[in-house]
Amino acid sequence: MAEESAGAQDDCLFCKIVAGQVPATVVRETDTTLAFRDINPQAPTHVLVIPKAHHKDAAALAAADPALAADVLRETRAVAEDEKLDSYRIVFNTGSDAGQTVFHTHAHVLGGRGLQWPPG
Ligand code: IMP
Repeated sequence: MAEESAGAQDDCLFCKIVAGQVPATVVRETDTTLAFRDINPQAPTHVLVIPKAHHKDAAALAAADPALAADVLRETRAVAEDEKLDSYRIVFNTGSDAGQTVFHTHAHVLGGRGLQWPPG
């Protein structure tokens, strides 16, 4: 299915950020991942960690490339260390009913304030 392809998608906002076609406040970069600040932060730290390759959601990424999924998870930890967060939340909204609005896998790293549970 095209939307599960690892190739850059012309209509994907986060592929455009990876390509430098849309600006972002990048906080970390590796060969395979990019981390940048969310444009509408929900906490003092709200960073998105994405694979550079296009996968539509976390389930697609886990199925297609578990090593890349591990890269993303490793980078969430690095972001938390950089931001000096002892407690933080990692969220992968997966599917529109779960609140996913950008269909390029991303981990939200949220911290810097108390977080409620359960989420809405
Ligand atoms: P989702 O709702 O889990 O798909 O999360 C998408 C996130 O992307 C939201 O938190 C948005 O605020 C964020 N976002 C949308 N456009 C941009 C952008 O251009 N730069 C950084 N973050 C963005």
